[in-house]
Amino acid sequence: MINNYKINFCKSCLYSSLHPLGIMINENGICSGCEIHEEKNVIDWEEKWQKLTKIVKPYISKSNKNYDCVVPVSGGQDSYFIVYSVLKLGLKPLLVSYNKYFNTSLGIKNLANLRIKFDRDILYQNVNPISVKKITKYTFSEFGNIYWPILAGNTVYPVQVAVNYGIPLIIWGAHQGIEQTGMFSHNDEVEMTRRYRHDHDLFSIEAEDLLKISNNLNEEDIFQYVYPDDRSINKVGVRGIYLNNYLRWDPLAQHQKMVNEFGYKSCKFSRTFDIYDYVDCFNYMNIHDYMKLCKHGYSKVTDHACREIRHKRLERSTALSLVKKYENIKPNFINQFCEWIGIKDIKSFNYIVNRFRNKLFWKETDVDKWEFIGLSFMMSQDLEKTSNQDEEKYLKYFQSINTEFEEKDSKYITFGKGWSENEY
Ligand SMILES: [Zn+2]
Repeated sequence: MINNYKINFCKSCLYSSLHPLGIMINENGICSGCEIHEEKNVIDWEEKWQKLTKIVKPYISKSNKNYDCVVPVSGGQDSYFIVYSVLKLGLKPLLVSYNKYFNTSLGIKNLANLRIKFDRDILYQNVNPISVKKITKYTFSEFGNIYWPILAGNTVYPVQVAVNYGIPLIIWGAHQGIEQTGMFSHNDEVEMTRRYRHDHDLFSIEAEDLLKISNNLNEEDIFQYVYPDDRSINKVGVRGIYLNNYLRWDPLAQHQKMVNEFGYKSCKFSRTFDIYDYVDCFNYMNIHDYMKLCKHGYSKVTDHACREIRHKRLERSTALSLVKKYENIKPNFINQFCEWIGIKDIKSFNYIVNRFRNKLFWKETDVDKWEFIGLSFMMSQDLEKTSNQDEEKYLKYFQSINTEFEEKDSKYITFGKGWSENEY
């Protein structure tokens, strides 16, 4: 019990009842995410894959005059595996990518290599940087969120392309409501909705809302982030399918396969042990991740650790020790961000950050001195047993031969043509 809040922790993973995307903990003390994950061990995945092949069959064009589906990609996360799976289904995808502007050279390289290795066409969305900066500055100072335009762009651009090109199918990787929080069962086979994007991806802030509350933003700045209306979507019959409903989703195994077979490149981060997820972005695993710690009392390393616990590669107490090792490490690349967005100095930056420190998770010990008393700290008091798992041995999973040490001082790549072993 902290400040009258009764916080329940899952007995299996590290999530709590305070998870911002909604996690339920059952009467046995197990969270909805862990419960739904267990379905992975009983579902007949061969049957599920066959079902997916039947679902997509009518979308496979015989005329070669258009693409069969839209596939959102970036130079990181699960992009390679999604394209690989879509090609296995016999679909001809049009790849689309929203330019986040915080690009690392490794991300640019990964995206170029993806396009070339899989021999696919790609469309890029480059919203004018003046608007992107204006919106980012606004959402950072008002909501402590530097990633709103990226989350909005990533989730809206593929739908706009589907509508404008008349391509009725979009294929996504994992649905977070299944994979992380267990809001849905794999058997619900949920598809993309405007509602989920609004409530969870955008934390209930739509482009139109920004216009209403900010004096500095106008229609010209935000129209690229507006979701197409129902009439346009229905006219094309656009639907979005998530692959993790139809194949046993395991990001670590998938990434390692993509590294070995297609040359996906990973990198070491200072704030987590996973080396595969957000290699294309300077800020996701740094400022954005630190803001999550400020506001929600945990960060991405907890997500990675919970994922690994569920796949039974990591024991709970070892996971907690890894989380504590990484989560409080200072984020990198703050100066680049301040320069890019026009924040005059680190003091002004910290002033904004400190406004978003949730007092449930942070104690101000002196002027501008903050002590973290967040979820991992609370859980340490709750942990019943410790494991004998060898932490170093576990971390060997994340020492890919392709690891490039990218997290060093460098400038954002605004536009990157990319390069690959077989340049075109
Ligand atoms: Zn759990």
